[in-house]
Amino acid sequence: MIFNTPRDVLSFVRECLEDADVDRLYGAVMEPTDELWRERIFEALRQIEASDTLEEVFLAEKCFPKTETEYKLGGHSQRTRHIHFDLIRVRRRWRLKKIWMCR
Ligand SMILES: [Zn+2]
Repeated sequence: MIFNTPRDVLSFVRECLEDADVDRLYGAVMEPTDELWRERIFEALRQIEASDTLEEVFLAEKCFPKTETEYKLGGHSQRTRHIHFDLIRVRRRWRLKKIWMCR
């Protein structure tokens, strides 16, 4: 799964939530996610989407950075429920490297 904008990432996450398709979400992530965390993160994302929207919580910028090779959506805060989407640049587009929670 390759993304052109940060918003694309969140649209993809939303599709996975709507279809309750945990495997599809983590199938797009390069680094494996522990089974326990898979469910826990998916449920937290579902709750975020139910009360706010993914974009309100995670979207900071319209575009990925031009020169950096790594980028993060979310991070350490109560609002994001400590969820980090680590992304990595592959040529001019981006892939999900890891989804994790810092608690
Ligand atoms: Zn945290």
